[in-house]
This record gives sequence, structure tokens and C-alpha cells, in this order.
Amino acid sequence: MPYSPQFLSGSEIRQKFLDFYAQRQHKILPSASLVPEDPTVLLTIAGMIPFKPIFLGQKAPEYKRATTSQKCVRTNDIENVGRTARHHTFFEMLGNFSFGDYFKEEAIAWAWELSTEVYGLPPERLAVSVFKEDDEAFAIWRDKIGIPKRRIQRLGEKDNFWTAGPTGPCGPCSEIYYDFHPELGDKNIDLEDDTRFIEVYNLVFMEYNRDAEGNLTPLQNKNIDTGLGLERMAQILQSVPHNYETDLIFPIIKTAAEIAGINYYKADEKTKVSLKVIGDHVRAVVHMIADGITASNIGRGYVLRRLIRRVVRHGRLIGIEGEFITKVGETAIALSEAAYPNLREREEAIAAELQREESRFLETLDRGEKLLTEILAKGKKQISGVDAFTLYDTYGFPLELTQEIAEEQGLTVDIEGFEKEMEQQRQRSQAAHETIDLTVQGSLDKLAEHIHPTDFLGYTEAQSPGKVEAVLVDGKLVEAAEAGTQVQVVLDKTPFYAESGGQIGDRGYLTGDNLVMRIEDVQKESNIFIHFGCIERGTIKVGDTITAQINRACRRRVQANHTATHLLQAALKKIVGDSISQAGSLVAFDRLRFDFNCPRPLKPEELQQIEDQINTWIAQAQDTQTTVMPLAEAKAKGAIAMFGEKYGQEVRVMDVPGVSMELCGGTHVKNTAEIGLFKIVSETGISSGVRRIEAVAGPAVLEYLNVRDKVVRELSDRFKIKPEEIPTRINSLQAELKASQKQLEALKQELALAKSDQLLAQAESVGEFKVLVADMGDIDPDALKTAAERLQQKLGESAVVLGSIPTEGKVSLVAAFSPKVNKDKKLQAGKFIGKIAKICGGGGGGRPNLAQAGGRDPSKLAEALETAKNQLIESLQ
Ligand code: ATP
Ligand code: MG
Repeated sequence: MPYSPQFLSGSEIRQKFLDFYAQRQHKILPSASLVPEDPTVLLTIAGMIPFKPIFLGQKAPEYKRATTSQKCVRTNDIENVGRTARHHTFFEMLGNFSFGDYFKEEAIAWAWELSTEVYGLPPERLAVSVFKEDDEAFAIWRDKIGIPKRRIQRLGEKDNFWTAGPTGPCGPCSEIYYDFHPELGDKNIDLEDDTRFIEVYNLVFMEYNRDAEGNLTPLQNKNIDTGLGLERMAQILQSVPHNYETDLIFPIIKTAAEIAGINYYKADEKTKVSLKVIGDHVRAVVHMIADGITASNIGRGYVLRRLIRRVVRHGRLIGIEGEFITKVGETAIALSEAAYPNLREREEAIAAELQREESRFLETLDRGEKLLTEILAKGKKQISGVDAFTLYDTYGFPLELTQEIAEEQGLTVDIEGFEKEMEQQRQRSQAAHETIDLTVQGSLDKLAEHIHPTDFLGYTEAQSPGKVEAVLVDGKLVEAAEAGTQVQVVLDKTPFYAESGGQIGDRGYLTGDNLVMRIEDVQKESNIFIHFGCIERGTIKVGDTITAQINRACRRRVQANHTATHLLQAALKKIVGDSISQAGSLVAFDRLRFDFNCPRPLKPEELQQIEDQINTWIAQAQDTQTTVMPLAEAKAKGAIAMFGEKYGQEVRVMDVPGVSMELCGGTHVKNTAEIGLFKIVSETGISSGVRRIEAVAGPAVLEYLNVRDKVVRELSDRFKIKPEEIPTRINSLQAELKASQKQLEALKQELALAKSDQLLAQAESVGEFKVLVADMGDIDPDALKTAAERLQQKLGESAVVLGSIPTEGKVSLVAAFSPKVNKDKKLQAGKFIGKIAKICGGGGGGRPNLAQAGGRDPSKLAEALETAKNQLIESLQ
């Protein structure tokens, strides 16, 4: 008998899950943000992410049992979207969690009860998997639950063993699958066959700890982490062929189909895939923006941008022209707002971000698509790295998009070539790094095999002895180098800071017996510090002991700028909002630069407040503290980390108590008062959603102010006024200038007219008409036109053609014909002057009675006027 499940809506499925576990003493917790607290994790990809610190033993649980419906984004499934029946980028994972409380037996029993009794799935339509060595789980399923053993599959480590990393808590999993075709029997069941089975529920039994050698020891506190895909359960209970036709997504697809004027059910497969991609990605992007992500070219911002651009492009593929994403976005908000009220609260921000990204992309899409068509028309099998890079860099086509389009056309993309272009671009943009000889890398790799990481003493020392471990000239290892040579030197230990975390390397000297080497830059590779510079005197030899001495003044400046950068981040968060996050920074001797994610320019009053706040903190003369601690502890204390930075197990935490706490390996002032002063120089946008503040701190402020002051003094000397009177004076000068320009224009016109009046006498009679053709010298096109009009009027029934050379290399021509010339003689000023202008290498046109044209060859003006005159005489007779 055909089986038809009991229909449940998406929100009923969600609620029943949470209720079921709430009745079993689970605390219902709200979904956490898609932006995980752990800055090293890009996005929330599973229900367990918010509980990771608990599972890793870094945080004590507040409850022993919890249940959630967690929004998730998995970009690794992006290729599956629209192609499999079950994968999304955005989906909701329903989970029940035990923190050292119940374990395997209860987890299995409840998952089964929920599936069969709450959701009403017939037991014979379910199959399960266990980890191949997990006899315990196998026994529970077979003996306690009563599943026939042929419907229990033992799977390997890849599918059914969960780990959070190479070491730490881990354990076997067990999955529940739904069977669309139980009639095929229990022999040779293949759970991977997705035409028959779909995985809905995954149970993770966290029971071991794995050490560095790979040994497993049982955990004292065993945990349960589970995940049930809401959309997948909806697919089953709503008897639809895939997740996209469930009530969780289909209304979005309908909106998009309506905009495109398509009937979804009658659409071909390709169109359906596009509609599904839109349905999926739109949910993802509204939730991502609601959680504070803005589009950019890095990290999460890039994921968002890529998803939005895919929506726009798939919209075009199904024939939508112009903007549409906010409309489908609105459907997605309406669909989810009951479960996720923050969507409605943030609707304006969502619409603004979507709109901005879409219109930006549409602009470049046109041009990019044209280029792409040209590339495709070349008939090559592969899109070259250079072309893919141009599309990326100039037209904003993410590489993946180019790949996708290429694939649609049966082509490939030269990824390696693309990466090469990308790398070159990176190097071009890092002009400051140009001093590094690129060939150093190869030697360095060799070096790394026998040289220890350099011992950095610079947090406390400004000078120290050091042994020369290696000398490189032109990227090659040498034993010694002489005065006059540019070299790179590696020491066993050094007080020189190597550029990292935005802070540039120290300057200073290496000195020894007769040796003086000036250090111009310091870089590090695999923690080997490389001192770049020029030997000014003597010789440097491997094995020598030398003295390394940094330039203390430079160091003090960089420290002031670096601590000020931290204060700037803190002030931005305080004044503009917590959503501000760092996107990059540069800390140099003379300035600092801080890039951050923010969708709008800052207001002048915000900038003022930020500056004031920082100067207040500076004036409070607070001692700063740097402490080395385990990464987990730093995060628990709330230290800000930079997304995308790799941190070791031990991290340095830079603390300005009560103001700022950041993970930072840089060098800092001991007391905020050492910064002296802070001044913002500029605030600009550098790419979509990323702003840049440039500022100065410490002695650099004085230099900056001195430069400004000099300008002001010069101006006030020159005008003999007080500095505060300068703006008013400039205003009045500008007004005067404008008035003079106007006057000048008027005079020129008058002059042209006066000149033209003298020409009246030169008019010749041709039949009943007057013909006047003349060269007006250098008068400009406007005046030329006025003159022609006026002459024609004064001459009555007439044809007037005037020419001039207003600027070097330019010809201006005007024709003014009276109505009778048009009517009786069928001569149109526009067409006539267009032909004449061709003689001077140009063109133009206009109305039948008055038209203007231009040319680029003044040497031909006389000939052109001559021709005009002859033709007029001929035609008007
Ligand atoms: P699959 O093998 O089908 O990709 P998975 O093993 O990656 O699934 P898990 O990581 O175990 O899935 O996630 C737990 C549950 O979350 C799955 O059983 C499924 O119901 C749901 N799920 C996982 N990935 C997705 C996705 N991309 N879209 C929708 N639901 C998903
Ligand atoms: Mg998967």
C-alpha cells in the first residue's frame, strides 16, 4: 500500500523537536549567530559550534542538556545546491545535546521515538548506520530498538567518526536514514545511494580524547551532539521530491519565478536549478546580513558577496533584467521572521546591503559578460589565468563564478595561472615589500632545515649581541659579504622586530669589529628573522658575533602608533558599534592605518568623538599589560582576535585595562601617556563595505600639525590676514573669480557679435538668398553659434556657415539656414555641416535650421569653408 506521511509544516517540525526534548529536561536555547564567537571559525556550520568551548572543556556548561534549532551555513555544499535534493548553503539543524549527562542509550532511544512516534515515520522505512567498531551502538539498535541487522550498516572513519581536530574530544557517530523505496528489500543496502536513502539525523557520541600520538582514552564526561536537518525532514513529511519544494523555501522560488514570468512546474531542468539556487542563497544572505556580515573581499564578507552575486547571475540566466534581489529577500524575511525575529528588525539593513551589492554587481556584470563572451568566442578549451584574473579584478567575477560559467560551456579555467596573477597583484600592491628579493624564499626553505627560529628579544631589549647564522646576497647563501653590498642577515637572536600584524620592521644597525651595517627592513619567514640592509663598513661573516642595535626613536614612534591602533579599534566599537571589525592595518613610524568593515562612511561628528575618546584614554595615563597565555584563556577573557590570523597555542594578549584587549604580537607603549596625542588624518572607503582611517600618533602628530601650520602661515602671510580669516577670504576670492569668468564670457560673446556685424557686408546674393561663409578666427563654439544665428536673422532668407579654430587642434563649424532654404531648396543645416566637417576630419549635426559640428584638422578649415560656399552657391541658384 502506498505510504503517505502525515503532513507537518516546517515550523511544526521545528517546534515538535524542541518540545520533545524540552519534555526530557533539555533547556531550549535560541539559535546562535551565524558568526561564531570563535574568530578562527568562518561561519556556524552545525548545531554544536556554539557549544564547542563546553565540549573542549574550556567552559563549564550552564545546563546539562540543551536543545536548539541552529541556523547554519555550509559553503562546502555550494556546488550541491540545486543539484542534489538535500543540500543547502543555509539550513537549520535541530539538535539535542548532553554535556556529561545522558549518553548513547538515551540518545538512540529518543531519536528513534521522535522519528517514529512524533514524526510518525514507519520503522520499516528507516535504516541506520554505526561506526564500524562501535559494537555498543550496533547492539542498542538491534536489541533495544529492534531494527533488523541488515538495516544497520557499519561505516568507516570517514563517515562515522567525529573529531574536532587532530587532537581533543572525538567519538563515533550513528545516523538515521529515511528509505524512499523499502520495496527494494534489505539485501545489499547502500546508504550512499541517494535515489533511495536520505540522511536525516546524525548522533555523535563524544567518548574519547585523542592525544598527539593518536591514542584514544575514554573521556570522563561523555557528551552527546546531534543534528537533524529541518529541511530534509520537511521534504519527507511534506511528500515533495526535494527540500526546495517544502514550505520553508518554495515561496521564495515562487517569487523569483513570478518576477521572471516563469511557471516553475513547466520550467526546464536548467531553469529549475537556477530557481533553486536563488531560493537557497537568498535565505543564506538575509540571515548573514541580519547577523551583521557585510559584503567584502575577505572572509565571511566574501562568502556573502559570492552568494549575492550568484543569486543575481542566476536571476539573469532565467531572464530577469534589472534589480530583483530585495523582493525575493523580502519573501525570505517574511518566511522566517516568526522563528528569527531579528530578520524583521534588520530588514532595512538587509534591503540596503542587498540593493547596494546587486546594483554594483549588475554594473560590472554587463561589461564582464561581454568580455566573457569575447573570450568564449575565441574558441579555446580553457579560459586563461590572465582572463580569469581580469574578470575577477576588474569586473568582480569571483573565480568560482567564472569556473561555473566555463563549466556550463564545457570549458576549464587555468586556476594556476589565476593564482599567479593574484600573487603578482599582491606583490604590486605591497610596494613597501619590494625590497625583498623573491629568490630569498628558496634559500630560506633550505635555511629552515638547519637554522633555528630566531630568538626575539625586542619586547624588553633594544640592543643585544647576536651570532651571524646566515648571510644572503641576491638570495644566495654566502659565507661573507663586504662593504657596499646589499645583504640579508639571519642572527640567532635579535632585538629587531620583524614586520607582522601590520607593524613594520625595526630600523637600526648591526655593528662589530670594524663592521657597520644599516638595517632598513626586517621580515620573517617561519619565525626566522631576516635583517635587510647595506654594509657601510667592514665585512660580515657567518659565525661572527655582532651587536644588534635598534633605532629607539623609530621604535618609540611605532609603539605609539601601534597602541593607538588598538585604542582606535576600541573607540570605533564604542562609538560606531560592536559590529565594527578589523579588516587590516598598517603601523609605521610616521602614521597608522586601520581598515574595518562598515557599510557606510563615518560622520564628521563620529570622527571627532573617536578622536576625543582616544585622547581622553591617552590622558588617563593608564599602564598597559602584555601577558602570554593559552589561546583558550585569552578568548575566554574576551580578547579580540583578528579573523584569518593563525594563532599558536600560546598567545600574547595586549591589555589596556578597561579599554581594549587584543591578541597581538606587536610592541607597545608601557603607559598610554607615552602616545602623547592622536589625530585622525582621513577616513575613506577602500572597497565595498570596507573603510580606512589614516591617523597619526606620538611625535608624528606634531610633524603633521607643523606641515599644516606652515601652509596656514604661508597663506596668512600672503593675504596679510589672520589664519581664521582664511576660509572667508577664499570664499570671496572664489566668488570674485566666478564673477570675472562670467564677465569674460559675456565680453567674448560681444566681441564675436561685433566681429560678425563687420561680416554682414561680405554676404553675397545668390538668387533670392544671401550666402555668407566666413572664418571667425579663434572664437569658441558657443559664441560662433550665437554669431551665426544672429547673422542669419539679419540677412533674412539666407544660408550662413561660420568656422573657427577655438583651441589648438580643434575645428568648430556652424550652419544657420532660414526656413525657405530648408523648404524650397531642401537644404538641411544638420546634414550639410556634417558633410563639411568630414573634410576637417570630424562630424556633427543638428536641426535643419541650426547645426554645429567639429573637426580635428585645422589645416583643412579653409578648404572646408571653400567647399561650403561653392555648394551653397550651386544649390541656392
Ligand atoms: P550529507 O552526507 O548528506 O552531506 P552530512 O554528513 O554532511 O550530510 P552532518 O554533518 O552529519 O551531515 O549534519 C547533520 C545533519 O544536518 C544531517 O543529517 C542533515 O540532516 C543536515 N545537513 C547537513 N548538511 C546539510 C546541508 N548542506 N543542507 C541541508 N541539511 C544538511
Ligand atoms: Mg555533508
